Amino acid sequence: MLILVVNAGSSSLKYQLLNMDDESVLAKGNCDRIGIDGHVSHKTADGRTVDADCTFPTHTEAFQKLVEVLTTGDAAVIKSMDEISAVGHRIVQGAEVFDRPCLVTPEIIDQIDELRELAPVHNHAHALALRACSAVIPATTPQVVVFDTAFHQTMPPKAYMFGLPYEDYEKYHVRKYGFHGTSHRFVSAALAEAMGKDIKELKIVSCHLGNGSSITAVDGGKCVDTSMGFTPLDGLLMGTRCGAIDPSAVTYIADKHGFTPDEMSQYMNKKSGFLGVSGVSSDNRDLTAAAAEGNKRAQLAGDILAYQIQKYIGSYTAAMNGLDAVLFTGGIGENSWEVRENVCKNMEFFGIKIDEELNRQSRGKLIKLSTADSKVEVWIVPTNEELLIARDTLAVISQ
Ligand code: AMP
Repeated sequence: MLILVVNAGSSSLKYQLLNMDDESVLAKGNCDRIGIDGHVSHKTADGRTVDADCTFPTHTEAFQKLVEVLTTGDAAVIKSMDEISAVGHRIVQGAEVFDRPCLVTPEIIDQIDELRELAPVHNHAHALALRACSAVIPATTPQVVVFDTAFHQTMPPKAYMFGLPYEDYEKYHVRKYGFHGTSHRFVSAALAEAMGKDIKELKIVSCHLGNGSSITAVDGGKCVDTSMGFTPLDGLLMGTRCGAIDPSAVTYIADKHGFTPDEMSQYMNKKSGFLGVSGVSSDNRDLTAAAAEGNKRAQLAGDILAYQIQKYIGSYTAAMNGLDAVLFTGGIGENSWEVRENVCKNMEFFGIKIDEELNRQSRGKLIKLSTADSKVEVWIVPTNEELLIARDTLAVISQ
């Protein structure tokens, strides 16, 4: 059974075609630069590729190209879209409306579009992609939406409410939603399996560290708190995002620079984080290299990140009244031994002790890094959001 997974942004359409009989990836690619000019890059499991400039005025032309490269030419993997059993779409913001994956209808697409105020960069693009997909694929092919926020809907009000006037929660839905939910759900379940334990018995701190980073407390398989908030700007210092700061600094800086709200948002989302602190780069690899050469601000950015992660581990241990395992995932969590080492240093009080040599050698694979006498297990767990979206899609269409 074949499932197409789509992750649409405002100018890109990333996709994977999975064979769910063995959960293998048949092909993946990206139709990007939508609304600018257009480019397709497509790769099959056996190494055939398409790499070409195109014209994508809208998501519809990009979807037509996606169908074309999957079904025709030298890198085709199927003869017709009829061979695909369903399409699963990643949706960033489901707010309080969606707490689980569901089948797509025109009304569901409108609801996703209506939530765009809460995720301006993402939800409208998702709605455009859903409408384009509906116009291009066979009408009989079911589509399923899987929400990044859904896993976090189990948080209690004391974790998701802000100390603001309650009316603005009721009227404008201002609260913590959390993001990366599909990843946190996938890796926490994969960790329980690797540990040979029932997830219901585990207290896990899941650290998804990439260009965007978030940490989630998973107690008994359910999210009880998470570091991203109303938007993905909250929580940790990230590639270009500032993370949590004193809200008064926002009004103060906006006043000093004469920023409009949009300009202030750009400043916090695009010019801050690793890039803003170091002045070097938003990319962790560049930062690590610069720090190794003695760049003090690059070193500081790394120190801030590790310190913040340690504080989240501490506070989430308190929130769960215990801790069985910490996991690292995402581009940084899976690959950067330096970040993992800095986080796990001086955490003996929390029962965390890793094998430093093993940590230095380990990259991108499922592995336990903690020593035998560590009270808390520490693991690398590679994430795979596309696979979980495909599994969810299969589950919804099988109901
Ligand atoms: P993601 O958003 O999950 O794709 O993660 C992107 C981040 O992962 C960037 O900051 C990269 O520098 C970092 N990253 C990717 N590969 C490595 C690596 N081999 N070593 C260190 N950091 C890496």
